[in-house]
Amino acid sequence: MKNFQDMGLPDQILETLEAMKFSQPTPIQVEAIPPALGGKDILGSAQTGTGKTAAFGIPLIAKLLANPQGSALVMTPTRELATQVLSQLRLMLGKSRNIKTALLIGGDSMSKQIRQIRDRPRIIVGTPGRINDHLDRGILKLKQADFLVLDETDRMLDAGFTVQIEKVMSFLAPQRQTLLFSATVSPNIARIAEKYLKDPIRISVSKSSAPAPNIKQDTIRVSDGAKYTSLLDSLNDRDGSIIVFVKTKHGTEKMAKRLSKEGHSADAIHGDLKQNKRDRVIASFRNKKYRILVATDVAARGLDIPHIEHVINYDLPQCAEDYVHRIGRTARAGATGSALSFITPGDRGKWSAIERLLNPGAKKDSKPKRSPRKRTSNAGPRGDVVPFRHDKKKKWSPSKRAA
Ligand code: ADP
Ligand code: MG
Repeated sequence: MKNFQDMGLPDQILETLEAMKFSQPTPIQVEAIPPALGGKDILGSAQTGTGKTAAFGIPLIAKLLANPQGSALVMTPTRELATQVLSQLRLMLGKSRNIKTALLIGGDSMSKQIRQIRDRPRIIVGTPGRINDHLDRGILKLKQADFLVLDETDRMLDAGFTVQIEKVMSFLAPQRQTLLFSATVSPNIARIAEKYLKDPIRISVSKSSAPAPNIKQDTIRVSDGAKYTSLLDSLNDRDGSIIVFVKTKHGTEKMAKRLSKEGHSADAIHGDLKQNKRDRVIASFRNKKYRILVATDVAARGLDIPHIEHVINYDLPQCAEDYVHRIGRTARAGATGSALSFITPGDRGKWSAIERLLNPGAKKDSKPKRSPRKRTSNAGPRGDVVPFRHDKKKKWSPSKRAA
């Protein structure tokens, strides 16, 4: 079943997919949609950017159309992701825009959300903490919800939401269909799946820890002192939208200000900003109001902004898995993109962990490695670009300086 047309979808959904220019299902959609339409539970893992939202969104909407009593709950780890998932689902609703929805996320007006809940939404998207708030207050009832989606589940567990998720589960009726998606299926995810899924279809599309093959990955070995200047060079060498990851919340703001002073258009996002500010920062980036988004890992997962061409890891992520998620912000849905990581002498351990994750089969070099310090000094004050995993098709064009 390689076509949406063969999946037995209602005409209305087929028309909407056509309008959205979804001409072919992605591999995870090919595998997930038919069994989900058949009522099966699903445990799905796939690389980021592979179309998981529609993989659960299409069966979700098909189910709501087939059963006017039905309603669905989608849980995501971050507010941004919840917002994005709901707007994708709204698009997919097409003609059925009258189906009511609620967005239950932290940092957003309670009274607005309470109004949305009183309106009997048939699609609820939210983050576990806020959903529980509403459950605790007795405002939200989930006994009717017969379709549950857990998106980016590994991330929800990282964020310490395990208890919250289990609590939400206790409010749900057992006779529901559950779709669980996760980039990786760790023992913890497997435990959750075991507990809450009924005889699930297990779907895994390509090696889940692998980044999309169309991302060109490079590294720069650089000293701490030369890092910022080297970043400026890298920004000037690139065209198009860029996301720069840094370690700390404070660091994002400082960096965005500094870059703005240098004549770049930049803004910052991190978890301490008020929700409406976060929404504005993302919306402006989406609309290309500025070119460089400086972010903490809060923006690393799930965000789908197709025009991001470059991801720069100014600071390496604390956890190797996050590397894959960060660079997955580019090269969405088959586009190409590039990722550049700065490696200072102190980052050696972190980078080795990332390399091990990316090349699990690779043996350690038999030859002694040159020390990063030495490479740095060979590289001149600004460091040099060490290609990583060569991509023969596309080369860097260190041309066109950005205005
Ligand atoms: P994931 O959740 O797996 O990271 P998304 O669901 O956010 O990925 O999808 C990534 C991008 O691919 C989105 O821009 C989405 O609109 C697009 N997309 C998804 N499915 C299709 C399809 N069948 N055809 C074309 N584009 C698609
Ligand atoms: Mg997603």
